[in-house]
Amino acid sequence: MKKFKLHWQILVAFILAIIYGILFPTSYCLTEKSLMDLERNKFPVEHIENLRKLEGQKFEIQKDFLGVLNNYLTDEEIKSHQDKIISAAYYNKPVSYISWMGDLFLRALKMIIIPLIFSSLAAGVASIGSSGNLGRLGLKTISYYIITSLIAILTGLLFVNILKPGIGADLNFSQQVEGLIENQRSFKDTLLHIVPDNIFSAMNNGDMLAIIFFSVLFGFFITRVRQSYADALTKALNAIFEVMMKITMFVILFAPFGVFGIVAKVVSDQDDLITLMSKMGLYMATVIIGLVIHTTVTLPLIVYFIGKARPFKHMNNLSAALFTAFSTASSNATLPLSMNGVEKNSGVSNKITSFVLPLGATINMNGTALYECVAAIFIAQAYGVEMTFVQQIIIVVTALLASIGAAGIPMAGLVMMTIVLNAVGLPLEGIGLILAVDRILDMFRTVVNVWGDCCGAVVIAKSEGEKLLV
Ligand code: ASP
Repeated sequence: MKKFKLHWQILVAFILAIIYGILFPTSYCLTEKSLMDLERNKFPVEHIENLRKLEGQKFEIQKDFLGVLNNYLTDEEIKSHQDKIISAAYYNKPVSYISWMGDLFLRALKMIIIPLIFSSLAAGVASIGSSGNLGRLGLKTISYYIITSLIAILTGLLFVNILKPGIGADLNFSQQVEGLIENQRSFKDTLLHIVPDNIFSAMNNGDMLAIIFFSVLFGFFITRVRQSYADALTKALNAIFEVMMKITMFVILFAPFGVFGIVAKVVSDQDDLITLMSKMGLYMATVIIGLVIHTTVTLPLIVYFIGKARPFKHMNNLSAALFTAFSTASSNATLPLSMNGVEKNSGVSNKITSFVLPLGATINMNGTALYECVAAIFIAQAYGVEMTFVQQIIIVVTALLASIGAAGIPMAGLVMMTIVLNAVGLPLEGIGLILAVDRILDMFRTVVNVWGDCCGAVVIAKSEGEKLLV
């Protein structure tokens, strides 16, 4: 019997997950057990007594639940304990039976990332060898990333100006965003943190730029030590890398289950999809149309004409990675799969893959760049602020910076909106306006982020004279 290919398995899991999520929507209900959980979580006892009055009442929509909480707690109290209360009141047995599969899959992917990045990048840089080659490859890669991100932003700019989704948007739809933006690092701090003061704590915190910086440095100086040491280190790093890739291939086998668990939970947690669509439909459509054009027209044209490769064959080779990007909304978590697809299926050398993809997962986010631009102008339109030409240029530049600075994790792009809004003097509360649909758009933009990196790997490999399988 012919084997049912992995990407078909993932697609089936994906469709089943949507059906499951729709059949079992999440509701919110404080039960005796959830009140006890809150107590164990050091939730103030006097508030628990207040919340007890809500015991047993079930709410289908999170916003309604939070609204009723207002009668029992002050705004301040809700704000500081919102996450705890919501997770205690989370009520969805059918989804909790299966969501652990998604959690487990994500944990396994995250487990792989750091040793994979370190071993592949350090070994890759060591094999690139002389500083001249490294400089050339670095410059080429970064220029490619900046140019494609700018094209993505301009695509977004075009559509948001044509479709004008923010005109007449419902400002009452806005949600609280405090807490979300407080932990934001300044741009100066981000630059400073590229150099880690402690590489182990950088690894511990998943500080990607710092890990990349250390790995590149480590690989580079391998070429500067005595030959016998250099050989031993390169061999060891390559061996670790091979093992990590084998673990990746093992984890990928569970992707259909992981995708099922993640997607079912995301779908079931969406509050009132119909209202969301009716209020935010045009904004979502603007972002998605821009992303689709960038994915299916712009990048394929670049791969075809500049990379002299077959873009849709390449896309097909990456289907497991792209589905995983969509479900997890994390470029970092997808990295093991994209490296596997680019190297094993599309035939890009390990030297290029291991340099271009980890760097891309961190600084190259075509989808996020496009989204930042559309969202900022949407907010301006919604608040009735006319954006001058110069302001639109500032948005383009800051959207690029925000996409470079955003981490490859869910919702990072939303948090980075603060940079763009600040730069043109738009109210930060504007983020509340787009919060409700962020998770959905995050899934789409992450696919484009990952696809952009993978196209970059092909174009750079071809420019270095490699023969590929696409
Ligand atoms: N989630 C995106 C990523 O991991 C970043 C973003 O939030 O835009 O690529």
